[in-house]
Amino acid sequence: MDRLGGQEVLFPVVLPAELWQESGRYDSVGSELLRFKDRTGRDMLLGMTHEEAAVQLARSEAKTYARYPFMIYQIQTKFRDEPRARGGLIRVREFTMKDAYSFHTTQQDLEAYYESVLQAYHRIFARVGLPDVIAVGSDTGMMGGRTAHEFIYLSDAGEDSIVLCNHCGYKANMEVAVSRVGKTHHPASAPEEVYTPGIKTIEELSSCLGIEPSQTMKAAAFVRCDTGKAVVVFLRGDLTVNEAKLKRLLKTEIRPLEGGDAPSLALGFIGPLPPPDAEIYYDVSLQGETNLVCGANRENYHIRNISVPRDLAVGPFVDIAKVNDGDACTVCGGPLTIRRGIEVGNIFQLGTTYTKSMGMTYTDENGASHHPLMGCYGIGVGRLLACILEHHHDDYGPVWPKAVAPWHVHICLLNNSNPDVRETGFALYETLGKTHEVILDDRNAAAGVQFADADLLGVPLRIIVSPRNLAAGQVEIVSRDKTLRELVPPTEAAAIIPALLEKVV
Ligand SMILES: [Zn+2]
Repeated sequence: MDRLGGQEVLFPVVLPAELWQESGRYDSVGSELLRFKDRTGRDMLLGMTHEEAAVQLARSEAKTYARYPFMIYQIQTKFRDEPRARGGLIRVREFTMKDAYSFHTTQQDLEAYYESVLQAYHRIFARVGLPDVIAVGSDTGMMGGRTAHEFIYLSDAGEDSIVLCNHCGYKANMEVAVSRVGKTHHPASAPEEVYTPGIKTIEELSSCLGIEPSQTMKAAAFVRCDTGKAVVVFLRGDLTVNEAKLKRLLKTEIRPLEGGDAPSLALGFIGPLPPPDAEIYYDVSLQGETNLVCGANRENYHIRNISVPRDLAVGPFVDIAKVNDGDACTVCGGPLTIRRGIEVGNIFQLGTTYTKSMGMTYTDENGASHHPLMGCYGIGVGRLLACILEHHHDDYGPVWPKAVAPWHVHICLLNNSNPDVRETGFALYETLGKTHEVILDDRNAAAGVQFADADLLGVPLRIIVSPRNLAAGQVEIVSRDKTLRELVPPTEAAAIIPALLEKVV
C-alpha cells in the first residue's frame, strides 16, 4: 500500500448514522449493519466498511484538482452482524481488514490505478505464501460501481463457487459467470395438455413423463422487496436461477414467492401460456428450444410440446441461470469447471457512487465543479491467515512462511538447569533479538514436549541447545518444514540465521 503511494489513516470503528444516511446505505443495507444509539439517543453504527468515512475525511481536504489522485488506507477492526459465523476465521462477525480508498479526476486514471492495485495484490499474496491466489471478475453487490474483482484462494473448504476455463483462462465468480448451455433437439409437435396430479417439481415431472429435466421449462417465482410485486423467471428445467444475476437485473433485493403473495399464480404449475400476472423474464437457455413441458397455469396440469420460437412471444432473453460444471465457455467453447474458493480480497471501481450521493466535489483547471471518482480495495486479514494455514501446514501444525511468522527463530533449551545450556541459549537470544523476532523455551519440559509445542507454533527456524550437542561444541539448527538441519558452533549460529531464513519459504 505504501509503494502505491498510500497514506495510512485510522477511521473510527463507531460511526454516526448520518454518514450512511447521506450515502443511502443506512436503509439499503440489511441487518448485517449493526445499528445502535449512543447515550444522547443519536443513531450510530459499527463500521463494516468505510467508504463513507473515507469520503467524509477527504471531502474537506481535496477541493481542487491539484490534490488528486491520492489513496488512503487503514488496517482496522470491522464488525458485520453475520447470521451464520463459521469456519474459524473464514466467516466471523468481528474481523480485521485492510481497506484502501483512492480518489481520481478521470476514469482513465482510476482504471490505471485499479490495475496497479491488482498487481500489488498479487505481489502481497505471493509474499505471504499464496502465489496461486487468482483474481476473478465479481459482482459489485452492495458496494455499487461497475468493475470489481475478487481474489480467491482455491480450496475445497471455501464457500464461494468459482467458474474457470482451463483452455482460455476465463475465470469469474459464480454470481457473474456466464456460459453457453447445449441445446436440445426435438422434432416439433403440437402442444397438448397433460394431467399431472400433485406433480410440482421438475424431478417429479421428468420422472412421471419419462423425460430429461432439460426437456422441461421451469418457472421460478420471487417477490421484489422494493415494490412487493411478483416476478416469474422461466428457464430450462435442468438449470437453476442465479439470484445475484436476477437482483442485478431487477435492481432490488428479492425473496422467494409464497402462496399468500400472489393468489392468482398456480404455484408448482406456473407456465407462460397465458402469461401469468407478474413481471416475467425468459432465460437465454430457452432460446430456440422446442417440445418443452411447462406448467399450464392451473392446478394439476402441464402442457407438453411447447416450442419457444413458435408458441411464445418472448422479448429479449436474459441471462439469469447459474453456470453448471461442464457448460461451454462463452469465450473459447471449452468446458468450464467449478471450483470452491475462499475470498481473501476484493477491489472495486466505485466511480462517483459515493462522492455524488455525499456531495463531494473538486474544482478543475477552469473552475468547474465535479465529483471525483473512487476505487476501494480490501484484504481480509484474518481470512488470509486461515488460507495461509490451510496451504502451509503438516500433521504437526502450521509451517508459517517467514513473511507472516509470529517469530523467525525458536530457541529450545533442553535441560534448562544446565548452566552452559542457559548461557548459550540466552546469548543467542540476545544477539538474534537485535535483528529478528525470537522466542525462547526455557521451560523444564521434556524434549518431546518442547518440540511438539514448537511444531504447533510453526516458527520457520529452530535452534536446539542441548548438553549433548554443546559437549561436541555445537548447536543444532532445523527448519520447521524439516528441509534443513545444520550443526554449527554456538558462536556461528547467529551469523548464519539470515542465510538459512532465505532458504525456507
Ligand atoms: Zn474458455
